[in-house]
Amino acid sequence: MNDWLTHRAASTPDDLALIDTDSDTRWSYSGLDAAVDETAGRLAALGIEPGDHVGMLMSTQLLSVCLLHAAQRLGLRLVPLNDRLTPSELGDQIDHSDLSMLVCGADTEQLAVESAAATPVASIDEPQWEEVQSFRAVEPEPVEPIDWAFDDPQLMVFTSGSTGEPKAVVLTMGNLLASAAASAFRLGVEPDDRWLMTLALYHVGGIAPVLRSTLYGTAVVLRSGFDPGGVADDIERYDVTVVSLVPTMLSEMLERRGTLSDSLRAVLLGGAPAPESLIERCRNYSIPVFPTYGMTETASQIATARPQQAFKRSGTVGRPLMWTDLSIVDDDGEPVEPEERGEIVVAGPMVTAGYYGDVDANVDAFCEHGLRTGDIGYSTDEGYLYVLNRIDDRIITGGENVDPGEIVEVLRSHPDIDEAAVVGIDDETWGERVSALVVPKTETLSVGAIEEFCRERLAGYKLPRQIAVTDSLPRTASGTVKRPAVRDQLIALDGADSENT
Ligand code: ATP
Ligand code: MG
Repeated sequence: MNDWLTHRAASTPDDLALIDTDSDTRWSYSGLDAAVDETAGRLAALGIEPGDHVGMLMSTQLLSVCLLHAAQRLGLRLVPLNDRLTPSELGDQIDHSDLSMLVCGADTEQLAVESAAATPVASIDEPQWEEVQSFRAVEPEPVEPIDWAFDDPQLMVFTSGSTGEPKAVVLTMGNLLASAAASAFRLGVEPDDRWLMTLALYHVGGIAPVLRSTLYGTAVVLRSGFDPGGVADDIERYDVTVVSLVPTMLSEMLERRGTLSDSLRAVLLGGAPAPESLIERCRNYSIPVFPTYGMTETASQIATARPQQAFKRSGTVGRPLMWTDLSIVDDDGEPVEPEERGEIVVAGPMVTAGYYGDVDANVDAFCEHGLRTGDIGYSTDEGYLYVLNRIDDRIITGGENVDPGEIVEVLRSHPDIDEAAVVGIDDETWGERVSALVVPKTETLSVGAIEEFCRERLAGYKLPRQIAVTDSLPRTASGTVKRPAVRDQLIALDGADSENT
């Protein structure tokens, strides 16, 4: 099998492949194919060979898409890097990835030079630094698309680093193919689909639509960066049918525009738990939301709910996708009964074979039933998955293990509570005390009423010993709750309370 674009350009050369919103230009599959051939030819001319690791430190643009396809054409292992990291963070990732070359653009050249150490840097734009090689200065060499085996590593993508240092996930051609097919079986593919990219290309959520569309023969709408009004407008302007968003992005867009264009047939919503009120809002405005759960290690989605399922079963991320084998296991790694909580473990053809150069992480990550996700959840007997929180978030209070997700769920079941976060705060008596930060729907909800609601539903040791209300929860760029910030806020509020009394 060659790269997917080679096959696609041969079968439907005149179909729309890509719309670049920045320049408002349209590319057919044959046009994109020619641009990718040129990129691949320049990489070859710069001495890059099949199997080489090549870093990509670039903002989202036509040429980063070309680089992604060119890597497939040449048989490279592409390592997309996050241009929001510091030079020292990037330096560690570059060092770890054994790169033969780091590719940058004009806007990332300085960062690349400061991070790369001994790794050669090449720019797709006119270089400013003497040591940076120029893509433009070399004549492209003719290239023959490489023949891929399913097990050949194609990408190395770093995890977000929510629980520690980001880990380098190796994704093979087979992983990407299985993920693209399983996603299509759940979402469906329409000939006129246009998938708007909102997530960066160093994230599997950004890479997946670009590669998948080539396989499906549908189009990608490219945007650099996220701004809520602009994305909502582009959906309308370009007749976008599919968009992937994290919950905070969707909230901001609805805040700004009220509802979204009815050209949309699927809003893929994942990366972090979606607040109940957001799903409710989608129902009220007939927004076709597909709550989704996935991770870098599984090349993106592994479970996705269709809109009707999501509206009927609040909080679910749906049933596992085709070929996805999910188990929920207890602390001893034994599968538990339906409805019982445990760690989510996943096996299947989209699951990575492991982390690059990290023996310890690989030993920890895999168990008898597959990859340990580090996430706690449960499945109903109909197979609907609910994701609660990460194992690392578990609170130990008075020697008892408390799962913050369980308490969040109780709090969120209160009709006047929109969102809640529960963390452990160091406590002399209890080791950690359970503390909750709550976003109420009404101003009249009192802390006393919340306490009473919890007392009726939770065992004594699980009861939050501190409850505070706030307007919104602090979140990361990808929409996950910033737990250290929640903790700081609760500690500050606690201090303020004791000063006032
Ligand atoms: P690291 O592995 O370095 O700690 P990370 O797990 O945040 O970082 P990603 O692979 O980007 O890196 O994120 C995957 C994680 O995001 C999942 O394991 C899960 O914790 C969370 N997640 C994704 N989708 C959902 C969802 N629908 N509901 C709840 N959590 C989700
Ligand atoms: Mg992770």
